[in-house]
Amino acid sequence: MKALSVLGSTGSIGTQTLELAEEFPERYRVVALTAGNNLALLVDQIRRHAPEAVALADPARLNELRERLQALSADERPARLPELLAGSDGLCAAAAWPSADLVVTGIVGCAGLLPTLAAIRAGKDLALANKETLIAAGPVVLPELEKSGSRLLPADSEHSAIFQCLQGTPYAETARLSTGTPTPGLRRIQLTASGGAFRDWDPADLVKATVADATSHPNWSMGRKITVDSASLMNKGLEVIEAHYLFGLDYDHIEIVIHPQSIIHSMVELADSSVLAQLGWPDMKLPILYCLSWPERLHTPWRRLDLTEVGQLTFRKPDPAKYPCMELAYAAGRAGGTMPAAMNAANEQAVALFLEEQVHFLDIPKLIDAVCERHKADLMAAPSLTDVLAVDAWAREAVREAAALVAA
Ligand code: NDP
Repeated sequence: MKALSVLGSTGSIGTQTLELAEEFPERYRVVALTAGNNLALLVDQIRRHAPEAVALADPARLNELRERLQALSADERPARLPELLAGSDGLCAAAAWPSADLVVTGIVGCAGLLPTLAAIRAGKDLALANKETLIAAGPVVLPELEKSGSRLLPADSEHSAIFQCLQGTPYAETARLSTGTPTPGLRRIQLTASGGAFRDWDPADLVKATVADATSHPNWSMGRKITVDSASLMNKGLEVIEAHYLFGLDYDHIEIVIHPQSIIHSMVELADSSVLAQLGWPDMKLPILYCLSWPERLHTPWRRLDLTEVGQLTFRKPDPAKYPCMELAYAAGRAGGTMPAAMNAANEQAVALFLEEQVHFLDIPKLIDAVCERHKADLMAAPSLTDVLAVDAWAREAVREAAALVAA
């Protein structure tokens, strides 16, 4: 029985993880949950999973959670109510919860950084969904992983695909980050991208793009922020940096290819020129389950892939002029140090402003570019955690200032 701590349990990754725990009750139990604002769903999750600990991001809402739990009828209330925690310390305590074997990192954005580090420092294995943490703080996270011996299992479908293709290689035996050294035998990675909400739009029409347009993904059902990142292809850019840290390849050997059917989840080219791919329907449950079950494969009753039903698998190169965020991510990754942290924070803030309809979709890359340009003079090559957090805060403020000028 593996004990799970699920960070961001009320989100898309979190709810799918809990569905898997219900689908395999003899294998997984949930010992800790964390959430942001969705108390109604959180209470339902507490009722169903009876965790030992629950942490809320906002301490001001703890009383409301307590009242909601007390209002449950005797039938609904778990035999033992969880320990209630809150704020950054509470999220970190849930991430490092003593009885947890595996921590699923489903918090969105850099808010996941401190809880992820807490889990690593406690020696927990991680199912990494929260890519922003690794992107912003790779130079901090990698040495911590090496020190603690935590294993990092990629939940992102593309990185899971690469990880699955690498089974049987020395990388798979450790399932650790390669900390900058190339994975033996791996020559090139091709990350597949659906192309997001605007893949069939003429670039000239993007001036008309609305929030509703950008948040309707053609293939995947995900949280709002990552869906916008998919529309701008920033998500793929972030995944390039994630792949660099996970598998140790330089940026010239990590490519993006548009594959509208989202059936091939990514490909690896090995030293001898063999190319391996992992295929499946676009459903995050499979990569999450693989994190939970690795190195085992569990039998599932899920719909089997039928390529005759799919008919065609097509591929094309992404247009850099249509997707400037992709190039910004490559440039930030190549610059290294604190540049990915600045770029990631600028993107998070710009996307948040876009979702609030304060800036236009086409302003997102402009705001990120302006922040990255400004950060060049202050880039730190080997930052500490404090440096990363300071750059993150600075970049968000810089975007807010620049956006206010755009709006004026
Ligand atoms: P969602 O927006 O659906 O969920 C985010 C979760 O984080 C919710 O539980 C939310 O709480 C919580 N949360 C939000 N802000 C904070 C905060 N400041 N402090 C603590 N908790 C917070 O996101 P997704 O599940 O889509 O994505 C989660 C992560 O996984 C992201 O990093 C994303 O890039 C990555 N990912 C997601 C995929 C997907 O299919 N969804 C695929 C691959 C990677 P609440 O809702 O209660 O406010």
